[in-house]
Amino acid sequence: MKIICIGRNYADHAKEMSSPLPEKPVFFLKPDTALLGKGQDFYFPEFTKDLHHEIELVVKINKNGKHIESKFASNYYAEIGIGIDFTARDLQEEAKKKGLPWEIAKAFDNAAVISDEFLPVSEFPNLQDINFHLEINNQTVQNGNTKNMIFAINDLIAYVSKFITLKTGDLLFTGTPAGVGPVKIGDQLVGYLENKKILSFFIK
Ligand code: ZN
Repeated sequence: MKIICIGRNYADHAKEMSSPLPEKPVFFLKPDTALLGKGQDFYFPEFTKDLHHEIELVVKINKNGKHIESKFASNYYAEIGIGIDFTARDLQEEAKKKGLPWEIAKAFDNAAVISDEFLPVSEFPNLQDINFHLEINNQTVQNGNTKNMIFAINDLIAYVSKFITLKTGDLLFTGTPAGVGPVKIGDQLVGYLENKKILSFFIK
């Protein structure tokens, strides 16, 4: 499986990063080794001094497809969850300045944490109006609603599948809202999809 991540999909986050609003979706990949195993601890990596959380709605692909039209995209997933797109911001800034790829900042081992639970899309009347948020040590640090996505889920699937075949088990991280920031050893990260707590782990 592979992990496809969308960058700059919320205007408020693009603004806090001083990035221009994209005219087309921006995406990058994480390998399967980036996935943190269920119930495993997250260890702060030694190569960064500025590890940032990015909470995102995550779509689990359940059917293979290429050149998927937006109007058929909803046939390619049945469950959504949340995840953290961990980012070594210092390494990313350096890469951005030099025009280099972001992998060292985004694709490292355990840089993709997903919720224990994924919920059926049938539980949500409108996929483009879902609240999700991240708490660190009981303080809300990021609050998102999917209605603020620049590109909707089905349009992201259509766009990405023009270039890359989607396969069953792939995960699509759909971008983070504003409020990204550093984590430190000892922090507890807890994520909610609407009012349901489905993600919880410590930084060790
Ligand atoms: Zn992200």
